[in-house]
Amino acid sequence: MKNASAITCILFAAITSVTAFSAPKADRIDIHYVTPKTPEHQQIHDALRERQVLERLQEFLSPFKLPRALKISLAGCDGEADAFYGDDDITICYEYIEELWQRMPKETTSSGVEPYDAFVGPLIDTSLHEFGHALIDMHDLPVLGRVEDAADQLAAYIYLQLGPEESLRLIRGTAYAFLYEASSKQAPSMAEYANEHGTPAQRAYNVLCIAYGADPKLFGQIVDEGILPWERAEFCDEEYEQIQDAFEELISPHIDYALAKENFDRSWLSEAKGQSK
Ligand SMILES: [Zn+2]
Repeated sequence: MKNASAITCILFAAITSVTAFSAPKADRIDIHYVTPKTPEHQQIHDALRERQVLERLQEFLSPFKLPRALKISLAGCDGEADAFYGDDDITICYEYIEELWQRMPKETTSSGVEPYDAFVGPLIDTSLHEFGHALIDMHDLPVLGRVEDAADQLAAYIYLQLGPEESLRLIRGTAYAFLYEASSKQAPSMAEYANEHGTPAQRAYNVLCIAYGADPKLFGQIVDEGILPWERAEFCDEEYEQIQDAFEELISPHIDYALAKENFDRSWLSEAKGQSK
């Protein structure tokens, strides 16, 4: 941990946007801040707990109806910077939060990614990816193709329902994190190609394609600047529609749409950034 006060500041910014919401209705989501094993993680734990980050995540997810209680924990993972789902239980590792913080660019990148977005984008994307696993498992939803791709698609689709500025910033931040990971090491090994997840670069292009397919005008820059090759971008509208059709068929019956609209209409990141200054 390089700078505890700085991370406290940015975590504060990450969660203050939701405080104006009405009382949470997510009585099917239980949250836990697991006591860390290291002093570095204690600082992250304290900052997250003080700012009620999990309470806010619980609130954001409250429109989704679940058949059983879902537990979401922030916990130490013995050095593994990850997040995972299993047995009605999502764990987001303190190590992962720490890694996101360390990977933040010092200043806005040449492609317009702000440091704050490079932190909060992948954090939200990952949290929703794990929630996607929970939705698929708890509702016993059918999946054609790799379930890890489906969870990525679900995550991106959900936050693309937010307003244009929110969506743009979250997509930029998420793609930044995947591309950072892709560029910071050698080409993937054969074992990495065998992994149940796509490679970081593939996951970046997938999320960029979903975004471009959702709104080619809003996300036109990623094609204009050659970040997403036109050969892929050309049919991203069809990829987005495929996800949209599946979401409407499989997930929509399990959503309180009045509550979802209230959530999606809020300017979460803008309010958070305003309060961080
Ligand atoms: Zn996964």
